[in-house]
Amino acid sequence: MIVNLNEPFYSYDKLIYDAVSLAQQYDSILKCVTIGKSHDNRDILLLKLGLGKKYMICCAGVHARETINPIVLMRIIEYYAQLYVTHKERRISLKKQLEKPTHLLKAEYETMLYGACIYELLQTFTILFVPLLNPDGYMISLYGFDAIRDKTLKQKCLAMQISNFEWKFNARGIDINRNFPSRLWRQKSADDYAASENETQAFIRLFHQYKSEGFLDFHSRGKSIYYYRGMMSERYNQQQYEIAQRFKEITNYVLVVPEEEVDTGDSGGNTVHYYSEHFNKPALTIETVEEEAEFPLEDKYRMYAFEELKLVIFEFGSMIV
Ligand SMILES: [Zn+2]
Repeated sequence: MIVNLNEPFYSYDKLIYDAVSLAQQYDSILKCVTIGKSHDNRDILLLKLGLGKKYMICCAGVHARETINPIVLMRIIEYYAQLYVTHKERRISLKKQLEKPTHLLKAEYETMLYGACIYELLQTFTILFVPLLNPDGYMISLYGFDAIRDKTLKQKCLAMQISNFEWKFNARGIDINRNFPSRLWRQKSADDYAASENETQAFIRLFHQYKSEGFLDFHSRGKSIYYYRGMMSERYNQQQYEIAQRFKEITNYVLVVPEEEVDTGDSGGNTVHYYSEHFNKPALTIETVEEEAEFPLEDKYRMYAFEELKLVIFEFGSMIV
């Protein structure tokens, strides 16, 4: 196993190291590339998993303090990749077992079926994973403001007087999830403009580079699903609702009601706003981790999120194919 969900302080460097290791180990179905640089000069990685001609996009780590999902996506990449490459061996081993059944047969059979599903998924789709869109913010959140090497940027962050554990922004103090051009986007200060940030630009380029069938953006807290898009058609929202309803059945997360799509006084400009308005394809925001959890988020949430999201991503594939 390369990605260890029990590893304390999963740093940006470790994530890069693991991504490269995974791409080496599973080179037949996994590619790792850089799609851009953060303002403090860190790579924004894209991991392309699968051989399918269709694409879906999964992203995490947009908000700095939401530190659970990046490692969880990394672990899911490894888990899917492993199921894919071992699928054929397991079929043969099961066939042998059928000749001489033991009490292990049922478990073996279920693993084989699950493996077959993942195999199909990755034959149909190439999943574009961006596990950490905001690496600078993530490092601030885990290690404090000394993680920012550029002195001007560090000063700017410190001047905001926000605890590093509560930090949501990138190294320029901008909330990336309010930086995407969209109909609900609002200017928040005189020098604020949409797509001003490196991270936003990198993700927009990715959106346009691949003709994808759907997009999931993973955030934290609330065990909830944002599916409603007020700027989109009724038909669009009907499909969103059906997908969200299915996710709810799998995870027990709650659906956020349409009135709460954007909080009062808040602006739009989320990743999902941009994606839905430009491509008219499903785009959902999924909030892992219980609402009561405090920042910094405890590592114990990683395992729960892993169990939930590995099913969500798979199910999404089957619904948008
Ligand atoms: Zn968030």
